[in-house]
Amino acid sequence: MSTSSSDIAILGGGISGIIAALELEARDVFPTLYESSDRLGGRVKTDFFDDIPLDHGFQVLLTAYPEVVNYLDLSTLDLHYFRPGAYIFGKDGKVELIGDAFRDPSFLWPTIKANAASVLDKIKLLAEQRRISGLSVEEIFNQPDQSTLESLYSKYSERFINQFFKPFYGGIFLEKELQTSVKQFEFVFHMFANGYAALPKGGMQSVIDQLSSKLTKTKVLLNHKVTIEEVKDRHDKVIQTFAEKDQKWHGTEVFYFELPKASRYSEKLKNVIGLFPESNSVNSIHVLKGRNTTILSASVIGVSEDSDRLEGLIREEIQTRSGIEPGKLIKHYKIEKALPVISEMRYNPDSLEVDPAILRSGDYLLYPSLNAAMCSGRMVAEKALQN
Ligand SMILES: Cc1cc2nc3c(=O)[nH]c(=O)nc-3n(C[C@H](O)[C@H](O)[C@H](O)COP(=O)(O)OP(=O)(O)OC[C@H]3O[C@@H](n4cnc5c(N)ncnc54)[C@H](O)[C@@H]3O)c2cc1C
Repeated sequence: MSTSSSDIAILGGGISGIIAALELEARDVFPTLYESSDRLGGRVKTDFFDDIPLDHGFQVLLTAYPEVVNYLDLSTLDLHYFRPGAYIFGKDGKVELIGDAFRDPSFLWPTIKANAASVLDKIKLLAEQRRISGLSVEEIFNQPDQSTLESLYSKYSERFINQFFKPFYGGIFLEKELQTSVKQFEFVFHMFANGYAALPKGGMQSVIDQLSSKLTKTKVLLNHKVTIEEVKDRHDKVIQTFAEKDQKWHGTEVFYFELPKASRYSEKLKNVIGLFPESNSVNSIHVLKGRNTTILSASVIGVSEDSDRLEGLIREEIQTRSGIEPGKLIKHYKIEKALPVISEMRYNPDSLEVDPAILRSGDYLLYPSLNAAMCSGRMVAEKALQN
């Protein structure tokens, strides 16, 4: 095995590229990592407003992800946990709270009372929670494929699907009609049932900072947008971690508003996400609290041509349904390429190698998630060292 610093090139410094570099370093192979932007992290990126982290798009760390457990020291990320439930701000002005009463008993009574789900829905959900949390991820990914919506229709009422599943999982898949594979749905459901959704105090970029601080011998070249063709003569092997141009994507927008005054829900939405079913503008909201400022984060599924108009609609919808008055717009991110559209989801990649000298990794090869990005990074490094 060679230990030259230029033997293996990694193109792209997102999670997958960083993990690949860490795995190579662990075996005394020191790659060159080319990253087109001015920082590592790829789609995981955070800015700050005072002491409040503003992630580029709402994303959470699921603590049960096997690769997260493997690679991250969660104890130093100062995690802020979401409670396992959601407020539903209905179109009719009614607000309901539903959640997992087994893990958080304070959800019990509001969930029993909630009209968003029938009694049968609630019983079915408990049964599904037992079933899915008991499956292995391999079993989840090996099942016959169908859309999440098809699978939900065979189990729950239309009302429950519209009031809860569409805004909750639509916000995770970044598509409203839940056409995403049931494999991704059950994978995420399994992770929610077996762990927590959390945000590091320093935003999602803390994950990148923790991982990249462990890179000691990788040669990191920022602001280097390169193609395989351009670098392949300089290296024995090239690992490309980003998708090709024809990859289709789901997009999202997130608006961060200052909250000038406290409202009935501004405290509660610090730990519980708020859903807006059947909305054409905002899909979900939550609150971020700093030393001197409170910020409302409002997420949208898809991207709009007219963000100013969208902002107006969001303000109106939030105020009408929740009574919260969004104040000054602090920041707005429009992310057109947030999650790759994947027709065939896999847990383990079977085509990392394009030819013996060119390999691929990235979430777009498996299923969209941090876990997949980490897993593919680990596996591509192992593959690169095999031959
Ligand atoms: C808004 C949003 C919400 C999300 N929510 C969640 C969530 O809640 N939970 C979850 O698990 N996952 C979530 N994800 C997905 C998660 O962020 C991704 O799965 C993960 O970051 C993908 O990492 P990657 O390394 O595969 O790809 P990327 O992060 O896309 O990395 C590819 C890298 O390649 C670089 N690059 C591109 N072209 C070139 C070139 N020519 N030369 C050199 N470098 C190049 C890019 O700049 C980038 O840094 C979300 C993503 C977004 C955007």
